[in-house]
Amino acid sequence: MPMKFAEVAIALPMDRIFHYAIPERLSQEVAVGKRVFVPFAHRNAVGYIVGFCDNADVKVVKEITGVIESDPVVNEEMRALTQWMKDTYFCSWGEAIEATIPAGIKKGKREIGTRLGKKEIQEAAQERSLPHTPTKEQESALAAITGAHDRNDARVFLLYGITSSGKTEVYLQAIDHVLKKGKTAIMLVPEIALTPQTVERFVSRFGDQVAVIHSGLTQARKYLEWKRIKQGGARIVVGARSAILAPLESIGIIIIDEEHETTYKQEDVPRYHARDIAQWRAKRHGCPLVLGSATPSLESYYRATHDDYTLIKLTRRIDERMLPKVKIVDMRMELATRRQIAIFSKVLLDALEATLKRGKQAILFLNRRGFSTFMHCKKCGLVFKCKRCDTTLVYHFEEKRLMCHYCGYSVAPPDICPKCRGAYIKYFGVGTERVESEIARVAGGASIARMDSDTTSARGAHDKILGDFKTGETTLLVGTQMVAKGHDFPSVTLVGVISADASLNIPDFRASERTFNLLTQVAGRAGRGEHGGEVVVQTYTPSHYAIQTAAKHDYEKFYDQEIVSRKELNFPPFTHLVKITVRARNDEAAAKAAANLADAIKAADVTIAVAGPAPAPIARIRGYFRYNVVLKGEDRPAICLLLRKVLGEFRKPYGILIAVDVDPMSMM
Ligand code: ADP
Ligand code: ZN
Repeated sequence: MPMKFAEVAIALPMDRIFHYAIPERLSQEVAVGKRVFVPFAHRNAVGYIVGFCDNADVKVVKEITGVIESDPVVNEEMRALTQWMKDTYFCSWGEAIEATIPAGIKKGKREIGTRLGKKEIQEAAQERSLPHTPTKEQESALAAITGAHDRNDARVFLLYGITSSGKTEVYLQAIDHVLKKGKTAIMLVPEIALTPQTVERFVSRFGDQVAVIHSGLTQARKYLEWKRIKQGGARIVVGARSAILAPLESIGIIIIDEEHETTYKQEDVPRYHARDIAQWRAKRHGCPLVLGSATPSLESYYRATHDDYTLIKLTRRIDERMLPKVKIVDMRMELATRRQIAIFSKVLLDALEATLKRGKQAILFLNRRGFSTFMHCKKCGLVFKCKRCDTTLVYHFEEKRLMCHYCGYSVAPPDICPKCRGAYIKYFGVGTERVESEIARVAGGASIARMDSDTTSARGAHDKILGDFKTGETTLLVGTQMVAKGHDFPSVTLVGVISADASLNIPDFRASERTFNLLTQVAGRAGRGEHGGEVVVQTYTPSHYAIQTAAKHDYEKFYDQEIVSRKELNFPPFTHLVKITVRARNDEAAAKAAANLADAIKAADVTIAVAGPAPAPIARIRGYFRYNVVLKGEDRPAICLLLRKVLGEFRKPYGILIAVDVDPMSMM
């Protein structure tokens, strides 16, 4: 007997589903997973049918006005997954569903775009690259992974191996195995634009069976690729975070390369982590999940050494090449011997000169964009701050403006201080733009490129900068963490880290881990060719263990120290954190609501540790005052369940916004 009402999820931030009556004329068309038009708050909204029921929860039930397409856009797996996502990540069911379908069809359009061009398919299917004969280590890694696949064992493997130890080759051959057994594969990389070489290897090994999903695709192309995957036209999906939500069926393996990367966590609603979703889907499909990294996240390494995951190590580099030598330069000494604060130490300048003389290339890394980090008046001390955020403004030389990195606000820098009318306005701190302009003065004639989010906003800009550097068109590359990723530049023999402290001083319990990862990665860019390489790390805290262990390429030693402090402070991996940010235009109202919410949580459960409310590290963004309440506990589902209950009963005053971030990657 057909049920009378449809349960419809709508992509609005409301934790509930809505009941609609099914008119006779649509009774044959409605089905779970289909998109429908429904009247909602005086307009026509798009919703997703997630179920049916006999009793509606409202007296006056409105009718569905139309069914959008004949094929459901949400299959049974995605229905279940998005339901889990809504319960875990504090989004609505509709918001979770919208994360799984391409933007092009969200608005309720029926069809967009055309078919994939023949030319594109041919391009993708060019020559195939052949597999290497695996080394002993690779062979045992493959045996473990394919064995799990053949047993339908949803085991999680941590493939821990230094760069060039052959991890990617293991991924390729493991995928080949599952394809031969008639299954499909998902391969996640941190960012497509920054890993063109890895993606290229998948395309050249598997040809047009691969669908590459990335942000550079037009909406129409994204939609077509999604449809191709859904209809079984692609058997391997390669992509960044969102590719984990691809509607692939019969999955035989899921792989996450560089699993420690923070890009796997989505910062906006739904705030999911690709690793969690991967684990959920692997369980559902009964297939292995492989997490690969040279510097695993503390969470994963802990689990891999405590029977949760299975640890596989690749300890040798394929070509037995030495890792580059790392020199730590104590900038306090530089400061003592020179009158001015130097951006470049003598050691770095000498190394740079020698490198350029030999006709080699160098990378200079600084994880801070812009020219200066702040500007202030030397006479009265006034620091130029954003009008809407609690942040200092960064001077950008090219635009000749002071800019806010949080809200985009910008102003022309004044010549005289608006407070004291003094004319002593100075720039402080160093960003990539400043490094670029200073190095141009000392590296006479070298051609320099800069890569950061200011220079790469245009489509194709990444490829151009990386391409020019690869061909030797440019000899010096200055950049933020974008230059640290897995690029392979054989002629780079020097990497200079301008300031290792930039990431160490962030108020976040993961600051050491971030610093270690960044330093290890950027150091790995030196000496990838036969010429060897060296790395110069400038720092004011040379004895910090993150810097010391990174200089020795010693992940395990870093882990051993870091895990002790995590344990002492009861931070992840020993607990799960849930960060609740309460914000409002009125400071007092935000503080009061945050305090009330914290009290309500404390009253509901005494076993969950509640910290705060405290002003967020950036206490105001875009004119909103922000307060954080942080929950800490071992049992994530229990915390989520409790918090959902408290939030459901919480009387949120008008003008208050609440955002919940489960397992947050940033404490800001
Ligand atoms: P990782 O992903 O750990 O950085 P890769 O898989 O990219 O390592 O391997 C590094 C280099 O060695 C690549 O150029 C790759 O083609 C090559 N390679 C990998 N495995 C083998 C092998 N078994 N025999 C020969 N070369 C290999
Ligand atoms: Zn701002």
